[in-house]
This record gives sequence, C-alpha cells and structure tokens, in this order.
Amino acid sequence: MIQWDIQHPEDLGIYLHIPFCEQKCIYCDFYSVVSFDLWDAFFDALEQEIQLWAERLATAGTIRVRTMFWGGGTPSLLPPHHVERIYRSLAIHFDLTHLEEWTVECNPESVEREKLRAYRLLGINRISIGVQSLQPRELQFLGRIHSAATAEQAVEQTLAAGFVNVNADLIFGLPNQTVEAWEQTLDQVLRWQLPHLSIYALTYERGTPLYTLWQRAQVERIPEEVEAEMYRRTMEKLAAAGYDHYEVSNFAQPGYRCRHNLRYWERKEYLAFGPSAHGFLGSHRYANVRSLRQYCQQLAAGQLPFATVEHLGPLEELEELLYLGLRAQGVRLRELQARTSVDVTAVATAFCHHYAEYCTIDGDRLRLTDAGYAVADSLVVELLTALTDPAAAPLPTVSS
Ligand code: SF4
Repeated sequence: MIQWDIQHPEDLGIYLHIPFCEQKCIYCDFYSVVSFDLWDAFFDALEQEIQLWAERLATAGTIRVRTMFWGGGTPSLLPPHHVERIYRSLAIHFDLTHLEEWTVECNPESVEREKLRAYRLLGINRISIGVQSLQPRELQFLGRIHSAATAEQAVEQTLAAGFVNVNADLIFGLPNQTVEAWEQTLDQVLRWQLPHLSIYALTYERGTPLYTLWQRAQVERIPEEVEAEMYRRTMEKLAAAGYDHYEVSNFAQPGYRCRHNLRYWERKEYLAFGPSAHGFLGSHRYANVRSLRQYCQQLAAGQLPFATVEHLGPLEELEELLYLGLRAQGVRLRELQARTSVDVTAVATAFCHHYAEYCTIDGDRLRLTDAGYAVADSLVVELLTALTDPAAAPLPTVSS
C-alpha cells in the first residue's frame, strides 16, 4: 500500500466533484451523468471516501483545510441540506476552522436567492457562475440550458444573497463567432463589475459531441488568427477595467485571485473527492475512477477509488513547475535549479533574450508577458528542452 506523505498538514486544499448535470453541454469533457439514479449512493460513497482518507492520513495529526472548491458537474443542484451533510463529514476529520475560501460552481438555471442565502449561511464565500455566453444562438449551440436573461438573473441573485467574491466563466472562439459578437458578451459582463472572470477558448476534446461534429466537418473551427484577436482584445479590455491577468485564463480585481486555483499552479497539496477527481499529496498525484457506478462500488467495498496513482520524480516535478508556473505567476529560478544540473539562470536569461516579447525575469521569477500567455504551451516545451537537453538545437520561433 502507498505511504501517503502529506508535506504541509497545516495548509491543505480540498476539491470535491459533484458528478450530476441536467443536460450535457456539447463541448464538455468533465465527468458527469444526467441520470440521478445513483444520487443517494453517491453521497454515501463520498462520506466513505472522506473517512478512508482521514484514516490514511491519521498519523499526520491535525489537517487544516485552507481552501475548498466544489466543482462538477453541477454542484448548485445540491440542496443546502446536502451541502451541510458533506461539510459535517469533512469537519469530523479535518480542521475547517481556518477555511479562507470555499467556492461552489453554480449553473444559472439551478440557483435562486433562497438557496444562495442558505449556501452563504453554511460558510460558502465564493460563487463561480457558468455564464459562458450572453448570445442566445451561442448558448444554444453549446447545449447550455440557460438563457442570457437567466444568467443575468443568477448574477443579480448571487449579489443580492450577499456574495461579494463572484466569478463568471466565459467561453470564446465558437464556430462562426465574430470578434464583435464576443466583445458584446464581454462588454455586457463587464457591466456587472464582478471581481473575477475566467475566460477560456473553446477546445475540441476527443470524445465530446463537439469533437465528433468537427471530425465530420459539420462545424468549422474558427481561424487561429481570429481566436488570437479575441484573446488580445479580451486582455486589453480587462486591463482597462482594472483586472489583473494572473493566469492564462483568469482575471481578478485586486484582492480577488482564486486562492484554491493558485494552489494548483503553485503546486500546493490538495485532496480530491468524487468520481474523476484529481488530487496531489506529497510526491504523489492520483486520479479517481470516472464511472460513478464504479466509484460507488469500490467505496462500498472499502477501497479508495483510484484509477491512477503516480509518483513524481525530479523530471516530472520540473515539467510541472514549468507547465503550472508559467501559466500563472511564473517559476522561481531557485526551485528550478534544485531539479536540474544545468545553469538555470544562464538558460533563463538566454531564453528571455530570445523570446523578449513573451517572457521576462522579475526578481527570482521567470514569467510570461500577456503576449507570452497566448503561446504558453509552446514556450513550456521550448524551455523544458533548453533545461533538460542543453545540446538541443537553438531556440526556434513559437506559434500559438
Ligand atoms: S453544465 Fe458544466 S459540467 Fe455539466 S455538462 Fe455543461 S459544462 Fe459540463
């Protein structure tokens, strides 16, 4: 059996996956089911999973949870008494008295003021609303079941229920979407003056209906240069509105960066519960099985429902540092140096000289510029090669 070594019991995050949706959106690669047959079995299994983890970590002493993120799926389908039940299960085993941030993802059609008020009374202090678009045709194309008006009402009700820390998720780069149509959505959303916005380019994930439509040439992907222009204008508008671009897809007003998501990018530890959830503890990453039925069966048999457990060696850690750090606030050169024999400062300096438009050295950190965020993945590959294979060919030109 794996010896789970928690490095920082005083600073843990918890991700909890609620695997139910009323309808599947065509682009969605997150695990969820639209049948509610296993609803009760899921909550029993979740309690069992929490208890099994607490037993595994019993020797670590008090484990203090600082951030929680309940995602899905559609966590806002949960009535407040279900939220309370899970919270109590967690509170039996973990110290939740220093919880700084507790986010719950909400879909516009499944929230109303009374539910939101009850959520707030239970201690939830951050709401993330899946708005995605405010154009009726786009919402319909994506398979969303809410309208633009419902999204607007959900935001109003969230604010009216007393939440201040509110995020809206948006998607751009839809087939046939024009830059103007995207800007209309963005301008409308900016009028809400929310403290946080998460803005993603539409991706075509294998196994989704959207991917199949594309493969069958029934939808056409938007040209790369149009998508790049949308992203560029997004960054311009949000900078002008006072948002800090602190990760490739995330923008926050001062003081409102998502602490839980920062944990991922800074490689801090978190436990994950629920089907398909991914956790990171000590030098291990694990993923739970995706199937809800299998998840329930394994837990009913008294086993943690792992699909994979991976031990990270120095190379994997180096890759993660680059991939996660460069997407957000940059990587510390000292941390990189601890994982390679190459002279990191010399490589980073040469890298920034070569890609002057895309990256910069800020104190001890190598970080990307706004232009660099647009080509982050290519830059990570180039930097990793430069750090692990110094004899490789000279640095090429990157493209998005
Ligand atoms: S509501 Fe969210 S989790 Fe559910 S199918 Fe749509 S995008 Fe996926």
